Amino acid sequence: MTDPTPEPLTLRDLAAGPARNASVSFKPFWWEAAPRRQTPGRTIPARTDVAIVGSGYTGLSAALTLLAKGRDVVVLDRGVPGHGASTRNGGQIGSGNQKFPVKRLVALHGEKKAAELLREGTAMLDYIAHLIQAENIDCHFQRCGRFRGAMRPEHYEAMARDMEDLKRVAGVESFMVPRTEQHNEIGTDVFFGGSVLPKDASLHPALFHSGLMQCVEDLGGVIVGNAGVHHIARARSGFRVDTDAGPLQARDVLVATNGYTDRLSRTVHRRIVTIRSGLIATAPISPETMARLMPKSRVYGNTNRVFYYFRAAPDESRLVWGGRAGKAAGLYAYRHLAKNLLSVFPHLGATDVTHAWDGQIGYTYDELPHLGRMADGVHYAVGYCGTGVSRATYFGHKIALQMVGDPEGRTAFDSLTFPAFPFRAIAQAAVPIVEAWYRFRDSTNL
Ligand SMILES: Cc1cc2nc3c(=O)[nH]c(=O)nc-3n(C[C@H](O)[C@H](O)[C@H](O)COP(=O)(O)OP(=O)(O)OC[C@H]3O[C@@H](n4cnc5c(N)ncnc54)[C@H](O)[C@@H]3O)c2cc1C
Repeated sequence: MTDPTPEPLTLRDLAAGPARNASVSFKPFWWEAAPRRQTPGRTIPARTDVAIVGSGYTGLSAALTLLAKGRDVVVLDRGVPGHGASTRNGGQIGSGNQKFPVKRLVALHGEKKAAELLREGTAMLDYIAHLIQAENIDCHFQRCGRFRGAMRPEHYEAMARDMEDLKRVAGVESFMVPRTEQHNEIGTDVFFGGSVLPKDASLHPALFHSGLMQCVEDLGGVIVGNAGVHHIARARSGFRVDTDAGPLQARDVLVATNGYTDRLSRTVHRRIVTIRSGLIATAPISPETMARLMPKSRVYGNTNRVFYYFRAAPDESRLVWGGRAGKAAGLYAYRHLAKNLLSVFPHLGATDVTHAWDGQIGYTYDELPHLGRMADGVHYAVGYCGTGVSRATYFGHKIALQMVGDPEGRTAFDSLTFPAFPFRAIAQAAVPIVEAWYRFRDSTNL
């Protein structure tokens, strides 16, 4: 017997447990406007100044800066260019400054260093805005601001204190929105108020990636897909890079593989744990409803440890909702996202889900991103811990400057040691257990 024709799937159905044969695309919604481009027939040159492993924002941003500095560049990817997180993410642009409460960052690194790191977070936001404008990349970039909803009254108080610390230590502006005024920000009563960071932004992730690719190619950079790198070895005048598409001689190598890091570099692999994040997109929703739910059309999130994040698509016609990807196969992996969405916007139960996809985030032991040069001479920039749109773009630029010896490449992150996970295999295997524990704590306020 053949399966019946796929049926549309509502959010309510997905939340209840999805029908097996639902007509949902497992490709990122973003790929509709920016389809992934194969690079057929693209051959790898025999030699180059810099070989970059990974064609996401880090790799392309580094390529752009290296080309501007007069270097030849070859960007290599195991999949199609942009196969990784850079065309799959939520398109929410933050500074990374909310990864830790300011007090914790100060306790870990001292107030001076914390202030430097936080200010550089703001600089990353400014850098991506500047790059998009300078290169004229059409990717719906908007300084829309971020609303973060408090899941409990005490979260609101803690957030208010943290925002004060952020202002005091690093001069970052924000404001609090009490629950009584929340409807000016968002059409729900589920939160106990929230905070707004007005400088945070949004873009269309895959259009940004396509724009970066175009800039790199316009400057003569070579980008080759289906060119997984499986070995890097020291050679007389640099490195020999063995790829699925043939060998390449490079003076320098940059590893920019973040959440897709494999065992190519043992040093980087020991320092990155992979976490899967998932997203769903809904069918179009009426402009009146969208205006009621998100009157300021910001990007949004909540204060849980295992948090969700959401926004309107750039034309404001539909919702894009993300969180951790479940372990189950197929649509079941996205069931909790529909549940989360309906807990915030219960009236959307009859709205269809059109897309469900996931991608891999690179987490570091100290939850900070890192860049630098390994003992074997290979450079790296990785570990954005889920806030990588601005940070990967900025780190790509900075590591490129460091590779050409430009003092402008210095960053506050240079002096941080990059700790390995003590038992990396165990840490990777423990990700679902830690997540389950955090979810339990979120639900019980432990
Ligand atoms: C679902 C999801 C949602 C997210 N949402 C947000 C968000 O809203 N805001 C935000 O700031 N950040 C978000 N992030 C994080 C952000 O997308 C990433 O931090 C950022 O894109 C990382 O860019 P990158 O270039 O370092 O890595 P990637 O874009 O992941 O690229 C790495 C590339 O390396 C390639 N590769 C790996 N190994 C090899 C090899 N041996 N040979 C050749 N190629 C190799 C992979 O194929 C991949 O294409 C999200 C991430 C995910 C997965």
